[in-house]
Amino acid sequence: MERTTVNDTAKAPAAAFTGDVYVTPIKKAEPPSRLIASLVRFTPGARTHWHSHAGGQTLHVTEGIGYVAGRDGQVIRMRAGDTVWTPPGEEHWHGGTSTTCMSHIAMLEGTDDSDGTTWLEPVTDEQYTAAHQQR
Ligand code: MN
Repeated sequence: MERTTVNDTAKAPAAAFTGDVYVTPIKKAEPPSRLIASLVRFTPGARTHWHSHAGGQTLHVTEGIGYVAGRDGQVIRMRAGDTVWTPPGEEHWHGGTSTTCMSHIAMLEGTDDSDGTTWLEPVTDEQYTAAHQQR
């Protein structure tokens, strides 16, 4: 067994996120385990760019209220305690609302040299605002 003390938090890169987002790693993929887990904190208005995960992704919300949205127009409003699964290859984004922070634990399965995420274009203000119709 091994305890890891509190990991350093880094600001998420502007190449993949809009607004202020902070990532604290929890676990790397260390064979034979492929699980990667991170605590991700979104400030109001912040969100990921569009992206997909080769092995899918599980999000577990630990604080606040936020959204996950897909290309087909589906929007899930999620809050602390909720868990959302995104299937392999499905393009989506996630983030807080325009007025609330949202923190989630992101869990996915990677390979030796990749976390399997394909990053795409930013979510436009129009796309982001439209998600707020979901209550
Ligand atoms: Mn994702």
